[in-house]
Amino acid sequence: MRLAPHLHRLGNDIVATYLIDTPDGNTLIDAGFPGHYRDLQKEIAALGKQVSDIKGLILTHGDCDHIGFAERLRSRHGVPVYVHAADADQARTGDRPKPSTGPMRPGPATGFLAYALRKDGLRARHVQQIEEIGDGDVLPLPGEPEIIGVPGHSPGSVAIRVPVADAVLIGDALVTRHFLTGRSGPQLAPFSQDPAAAASSLSRLAELDASWVLPAHGPPWQGSPAEAVAAARVAR
Ligand SMILES: [Zn+2]
Repeated sequence: MRLAPHLHRLGNDIVATYLIDTPDGNTLIDAGFPGHYRDLQKEIAALGKQVSDIKGLILTHGDCDHIGFAERLRSRHGVPVYVHAADADQARTGDRPKPSTGPMRPGPATGFLAYALRKDGLRARHVQQIEEIGDGDVLPLPGEPEIIGVPGHSPGSVAIRVPVADAVLIGDALVTRHFLTGRSGPQLAPFSQDPAAAASSLSRLAELDASWVLPAHGPPWQGSPAEAVAAARVAR
C-alpha cells in the first residue's frame, strides 16, 4: 500500500514492513514473517519493478517477527541484509534473552498468534550472512537511510530515517497498537529486553525530524516523532 511518495507499507496493523521506492531502486525495512514474501512480490509487481531492484534489506532488530523472509531474499536474490552489530548474533542464531511479556488480553494475543501462523511465522530462517551497521551510519542504498541507535527493546534496535520519504521507521522502539492487549496509541512495545533503556531511547527518537513515524506494530503515525514520543510518555 502506498502511504506517500517513495513510501509503501506491507502487512497490516499486526505486523508491518516498509518499502522505499526510488528511481535508483528499492530499500526494504524489516522482513515480517516468511509469508509476507507474497505481499512483497505483489507490491513490487504493482510498482512495475522486480525483486532484483531491491538493493538492501535493513532489519530494525533481530526478533523473529522481523527477520521472516530475510534469508530467502539474501540467499536466492543476493540482497544484502543489514543489522546492528549488537543484534547480529540474534539474527544469525535466534538466541535472545527471555524478556517478560507484561500485560496481555486473550483476544489480541490470540489474533497475533493466528496471524503469525498464517504468515508461516514458525518457519522463519535465520540470516546466514549479515552486514553489520552502527549508530550514525548512512547506508549506500536507495533513499540514503540513516541509522539511529535506539537500544532497549533489544541491544541492537535501530530507527531508520529516510529523508526522501520524510519518514522515520522505528521497528519496535515504539508501537502504535499493543499487539497483546489491543490498546491503541503510541506506547512502548511488549517483549522488551531492557524496558528502562527503551524508555530512555525515546528522547533520541523525539529529536528526529520527519512527518511519518512508522512502527512495525500498529498503524502509521502521521506527525512528528516528538508528538509520538509525547503521546507514548502520557500512555505509560
Ligand atoms: Zn516486533
